[in-house]
Amino acid sequence: MTASRGILFVMTGASGVGKGTVRHAAVPELGDVHYSVSATTRPRREGEIDGVHYHFYDVATFERALAEDALLEHAEYVGDYYGTPAAAVDRALEAGRDVILEIELDGARQVKEKREDAVMLFIAPPSLAELERRLRGRGTDTEAKIQRRLERARVELRAVREFDYLIVNDRLEDAVVAFQAVIRAERLRAWRYSEAFVLALQRAT
Ligand code: 5GP
Repeated sequence: MTASRGILFVMTGASGVGKGTVRHAAVPELGDVHYSVSATTRPRREGEIDGVHYHFYDVATFERALAEDALLEHAEYVGDYYGTPAAAVDRALEAGRDVILEIELDGARQVKEKREDAVMLFIAPPSLAELERRLRGRGTDTEAKIQRRLERARVELRAVREFDYLIVNDRLEDAVVAFQAVIRAERLRAWRYSEAFVLALQRAT
């Protein structure tokens, strides 16, 4: 068998850049992958389902999760809290499943601190003008929130070099292929294979 522990993938990139769209399109061809459902205090958008898109917490519940050290990382983003429940991530990794987090920059940095072996991907828009167009097209945010999200996007773009991979989401199909390529290549890293697998291979040759 190959590696027994799953790989932790962190996708970071501006709100509206299409992280979720890329992941949705890529994952069906990637086998068993666990998407980490984040906790957030932001209001639910139309169509979002509690426990599927997010775990929608009130502030007290979020603060309790923090106090109980139940979050792998957390951040404040444009006036709301977001965080990754640690238990589900660890359960999946221990079961040998690869895990994908879709989180903003502060949280991504915390994950890298705690889990050195996390694979860090940055998803960038082709331009800030295009990002603005996508944010407006979504129609879910007030003008003030759009401006704050764009400002965060500018800040996050300056951190690109902290990441292992950079994918520009211009044409969705290209971004999906690139994302799949990263995941497949990471799975093939020689050091990830178990000793038993390598020994069996050596015996067979
Ligand atoms: P949105 O409100 O558009 O769903 O998300 C806003 C931003 O928060 C996005 O950049 C998204 O990736 C990020 N985000 C979502 N979940 C988490 C999380 O668990 N932790 C952190 N740090 N950021 C998150």
